[in-house]
Amino acid sequence: MVKVDSDTPCFVRVQCVDCENEQILYSHASTKVDCEVCGKTLAIPGGGKAEVNSKILEIVG
Ligand SMILES: [Zn+2]
Repeated sequence: MVKVDSDTPCFVRVQCVDCENEQILYSHASTKVDCEVCGKTLAIPGGGKAEVNSKILEIVG
């Protein structure tokens, strides 16, 4: 699990490690985020920053 580096809430573009779908999620997501294509869990709430269980491609702002 990789935590988003920034303490500032932001949106990050991630890639699902299973199906390579790219999707944007919120760094401080308070609910679980699933891949829109295969349903894999991409991020889970981490009490502040979400724990991202996918490949972070870039911060989009
Ligand atoms: Zn997927």
